[in-house]
Amino acid sequence: MPDLTDIAEVMDNSGDTKNTGGYNSKLMAAKVDSAKCAGSGACVEACPVEAIKLVDNKAVVDKDECTDCGACVDECPNQAITLD
Ligand code: SF4
Repeated sequence: MPDLTDIAEVMDNSGDTKNTGGYNSKLMAAKVDSAKCAGSGACVEACPVEAIKLVDNKAVVDKDECTDCGACVDECPNQAITLD
């Protein structure tokens, strides 16, 4: 049987999750600067996991779905998206 301490350490070292004593929360996700976002929808089209939608003509990222791939960052014509 695996040692649960070892599993927690692997998850901590994975770079995208953090063991918080019972559940894991993401440390990274695409972040939208709403002041720069012009609602082009280029990020929505670029996202391979459908983690972005437009709300009131502004891009909104579902941090639970975002895989930090960076595709939206590259496609945004206004450089409104960064990875945390
Ligand atoms: S970083 Fe990748 S997965 Fe995350 S919102 Fe942008 S395109 Fe989607």
